[in-house]
Amino acid sequence: MPTYDFICENCGHKFSEFVSLREKDSVKCPVCNGKAKQRFTGFMYMGKGGTESGGCSGSCGSCSGCG
Ligand SMILES: [Zn+2]
Repeated sequence: MPTYDFICENCGHKFSEFVSLREKDSVKCPVCNGKAKQRFTGFMYMGKGGTESGGCSGSCGSCSGCG
């Protein structure tokens, strides 16, 4: 079972929860017990080691855009 990243829609608290696919739609925030939604952060790491500069803000230090 994978760990998913969530963010609370109420207080903005970010946390990781070990839940099943079915349960991840009803995850509660551990801080305020508000409704949490799943975070998708994978796109931030896709460019690692690549040469594409399209999505780089000039701070990754490893792509052609930072040369
Ligand atoms: Zn919360």
